[in-house]
Amino acid sequence: MPERSDGPAATEAAGARLVQTLRPGDVVLVSGELGAGKTTFVRGAARALGVEGPITSPTFTIGRRYAGRVPVSHLDLYRLEGLEDEDPALLADYLTPDAIAFVEWPERAGTQLPATVHVRLEHAGGDRRRIEVRQP
Ligand code: ADP
Ligand code: MG
Repeated sequence: MPERSDGPAATEAAGARLVQTLRPGDVVLVSGELGAGKTTFVRGAARALGVEGPITSPTFTIGRRYAGRVPVSHLDLYRLEGLEDEDPALLADYLTPDAIAFVEWPERAGTQLPATVHVRLEHAGGDRRRIEVRQP
């Protein structure tokens, strides 16, 4: 059953709830259109994992690592055309066994991501969003 969000705070809260079920090594793929709230969701998750300071989408690099209670990686693959031509080590720095990783625009990577959780956000009119979390 998808959750409903009526504003950014509710989307952050959904991210915060998800992390209660996560462990180091988990890779959370966060899909949805531009403005659907992917970064907002990841911000709530990262906060709940103890990350302080601003959490914004990586722009000039494909990812960032934050120091929370566990390492937190945040990737945004929007500008990747597909990883075939890229150095695999590009992701290896972020998807480490000690970290919990969140990946925006995972479809850009093709099928190479070792996902353990899928989150999908969809516009539902105005400030409303539908949030679907799929976990094994
Ligand atoms: P994405 O990373 O998917 O492109 P962002 O999280 O960066 O999206 O931006 C979402 C934008 O939509 C923000 O400006 C946020 O304030 C706004 N917004 C409005 N309602 C919501 C909601 N329910 N959940 C998340 N963001 C919302
Ligand atoms: Mg984003």
